[in-house]
Amino acid sequence: MYDLVIANGRVMDPETGFDSVANVGVLDGQIAAISTDSLDGKDWIDASGLVVAPGFVDGHSHSSNDWFGVKKGILDGRTTQLDLEAGAWPVDVYYNRMEGRAQANYGATVGHLPIRDDVFSNIVPNTGNLFLEMWKSKNQWSVRTATNEEVEIIVNLAETGLKKGALGIGTPVGYAVTGISAYELNRVWAVAGKYKSFATVHGRFSSKSLPTEGMLGILEAIGNSRVVGAGLIVHHYHAQVLSQVEEMARLVDDANANGAKFILEMYPYTFGSSILMADYLHPDNYQNNMGHTYEDITLVKTMKPLTKEIYETELRENPGATILFEHCREEDMVKAMAWPTVCIGSDAVPYIDADGCHNEEGATTVPYDTPDEEAHGHPRGAGTYAKVFRYAREQKTMPLMTAVSKTSYLLCKFLEDNGVAQMAKKGRIKVGCDADITIFDPETITDNATRENGAAASSGIPHVIVNGIPIVRNSTIVEGVYPGRPIRNPILE
Ligand SMILES: [Zn+2]
Repeated sequence: MYDLVIANGRVMDPETGFDSVANVGVLDGQIAAISTDSLDGKDWIDASGLVVAPGFVDGHSHSSNDWFGVKKGILDGRTTQLDLEAGAWPVDVYYNRMEGRAQANYGATVGHLPIRDDVFSNIVPNTGNLFLEMWKSKNQWSVRTATNEEVEIIVNLAETGLKKGALGIGTPVGYAVTGISAYELNRVWAVAGKYKSFATVHGRFSSKSLPTEGMLGILEAIGNSRVVGAGLIVHHYHAQVLSQVEEMARLVDDANANGAKFILEMYPYTFGSSILMADYLHPDNYQNNMGHTYEDITLVKTMKPLTKEIYETELRENPGATILFEHCREEDMVKAMAWPTVCIGSDAVPYIDADGCHNEEGATTVPYDTPDEEAHGHPRGAGTYAKVFRYAREQKTMPLMTAVSKTSYLLCKFLEDNGVAQMAKKGRIKVGCDADITIFDPETITDNATRENGAAASSGIPHVIVNGIPIVRNSTIVEGVYPGRPIRNPILE
């Protein structure tokens, strides 16, 4: 007798290529049977005509501990939501706060930028997530160059984070272009090498032209991770290399063929979301490097494009303001999405309302029950994973199994190979694996989030199961159930 039986679905396992109609039996949070025989269960889901896929794995969510954002991710099929880019600080605060409150699996790297904020400004996020508390931060973490003594303090704190079970080290150097030196990057990432772990990067440059070419910024990261022997995740690489997505992907495939452990990630949109003070959006950089102007930046709280006057006022008074900005062309975005070794990550940013609100914890986000229309933000927070499947169907960008692999297995395999043992049991539909399962209709799975309604939930994903517990049932989120578990490395002290 199984706890749950998922009957008659098209079971797809990206690791083995298994693709066949079968029944799946779930017991004690794990996949216990995959069979054409009928199985008995206490609970039962009819998956006829639906795909039974590994739960989608998002390695890039700045909403990984933001209740509204997590909900949006789950409705998009994401059973695991990690912040590997910005990371957590303090690592304990992040993990402790999530206990018993997590609808999806959660975890984070240790964040290089919040460590800098701690060292330079004595600012420590209440939630462990700098992205939820950007409003109270000064810009020292971004622009200040560390002395050699300060570099060693930062290195020690990064090591403390890994010893607390952080998954790797996250360095979005693109937010500290003039603050983090190549030397600091190397010293901090050496800690990741020492622990046979990995680093992640938002590349130093977002640019199509020399001397700040996007590929050069990523090569800096590649060089540093190779020197220290760490793996490397390059987040939203299309937003940095712009028209050179295929050149960059080929380079990384070559490096991996020569023994490197790198993975490129992308989200399926031609515009990003960030904070107004981001270096690469400074008018000189944004115009010269990316070929865009003020009107291509939208202030999220008003959803209106910037003018010179508003830009200057907001930068002075509200440098952490959430904005949308145009970057690459649609054709380049599609090429990056379709490249077989590139994984998908949402880069979900907490949604805000018209006041740029702070919720009861002082975090820059909206409360869990906020109506979709009142939540402003980039549609990637709600629609990324379903959009990949819509493109696969409508534009034939890739076979269905490739889309399943890019949304689940690829990142799990990378993490497993870079010290995160728990991920060996995720991203697969296989006996003995964790029962994180996303059940979708390949004919209808669709993103509904748009620039105007950024929080509209995806559809065509009727059931989502986290550690054997249904968290979405008949396309409705199950309230008051918290099956999410920490993805965390062993605590060493
Ligand atoms: Zn980023």
